Amino acid sequence: MSEAKEYLANVRASLVKRDPNQPEFLEAVDNFFHTITPVLEEHPEYIQANLIERLIEPERAFQFRVPWVDDEGNVQVNRGFRVQFSAAIGPYKGGLRFHPSVNLSIVKFLGFEQIFKNSLTGLPIGGGKGGSDFNPKGKSDGEVMRFAQSFMTELQRHIGPDIDVPAGDIGVGGREIGYLYGQYRKIRGYQAGVLTGKGLSYGGSLARTEATGFGLLYFTQALLADQGESLDGKKIKVSGAGNVAIYAIQKAAELGATVLTASDSDGFVYDPNGIDYKIVQQIKEVERGRIKDYADRVDTAEYHEGSVWDFDLDYDIALPCATQNEIDGGRATRIAQNGATVVNCGSNMPCTPEAVEIFHKSDVLLGPAKAANAGGVAVSALEMSQNGERLSWTFEEVDQRLEKIMQNIYTESAGAAKQYGFGKDYLAGANIAGFKKVADAMFAQGVI
Ligand code: GLU
Repeated sequence: MSEAKEYLANVRASLVKRDPNQPEFLEAVDNFFHTITPVLEEHPEYIQANLIERLIEPERAFQFRVPWVDDEGNVQVNRGFRVQFSAAIGPYKGGLRFHPSVNLSIVKFLGFEQIFKNSLTGLPIGGGKGGSDFNPKGKSDGEVMRFAQSFMTELQRHIGPDIDVPAGDIGVGGREIGYLYGQYRKIRGYQAGVLTGKGLSYGGSLARTEATGFGLLYFTQALLADQGESLDGKKIKVSGAGNVAIYAIQKAAELGATVLTASDSDGFVYDPNGIDYKIVQQIKEVERGRIKDYADRVDTAEYHEGSVWDFDLDYDIALPCATQNEIDGGRATRIAQNGATVVNCGSNMPCTPEAVEIFHKSDVLLGPAKAANAGGVAVSALEMSQNGERLSWTFEEVDQRLEKIMQNIYTESAGAAKQYGFGKDYLAGANIAGFKKVADAMFAQGVI
């Protein structure tokens, strides 16, 4: 075993011992460790400085009580989290997730991924993540507001435009960011740059709402162009019906592809004529309904219960945009058998390690989330820039910058994969390209 491999094995063993109950975090670390050996072989000084053991330990992580009163007058208590993982290249940056599954393991996996994703954007942002096990499903606006206010009453003491800048993630969209920002402003005063994903009337950026979905398609376009192909005429399977999925569907249609499906946690809709993003948007963002409602409104659409990945179809590209580990080994085999040749990740870590392995063996190209879905956080960083200069850019300007950033991310990831002998393993390439900048910054700043 090389010195680098032995070092990583030892760091992993100590992590397993210290955090035996954090399977998602371990999965994210494993995905990363599998691919960075050549960088450590090139830089033995990183091993000397024990850089990796420092990198997998958040600079700070905290959990807090979030009490609130529901519409019936009952006192509810949720858990809040914020993990400030790495500020080596800029202030901690990453979303807040409100979902019953949220725990420290989930927030740490997301925060860890965010470090390299943010680095890949080429913008000066570090990695962080947070959230709560609060379930927004079925809650009234008043309940969401009281919860968000209580959450921010604690979080505000830990964040700031140059310290830590949260944003949205699953369960946190424009409505929630509005309530969170309002409470921050009430306690701390005006500071537009403390959160991103804000409404346009109070410091938000044009194209931030669309950014993750649009960015996913720009990344897909760059990947296809490199294989001498284009999106024109391609059939796409999308999972999810949230912020990422909706705008991925819109951009895919604009670029000449047909999106056949959309889903939520109950089931999915299939429409051979192509999903209309505006109807999904109306159902999910305005009415806060279920994807089943889509089939009631569109004659050619059919609704099925269960996972969209268990449904056979002929298609070219899979865009998972729902949640982590939505594609396991069995589903990955099915995706390859259905004829898909590209899987680009809109959701964070949607593929289990077995699924990743199967895609590599079947020559299915995999665009990892930290590269393919970086458009959201990239435009968040552009929102921070606009807040800093107290100006707002046009939709076209932001969108053009986003497209360029996504093209660069593809080029950097593909280039690093090739340079380090990983062929078209873009997961390896994204890890390496994202890691190199962070490692260089950490090394230069000494043992801190
Ligand atoms: N939650 C998004 C992500 O996973 C966006 C984070 C942000 O804008 O800070 O990258």
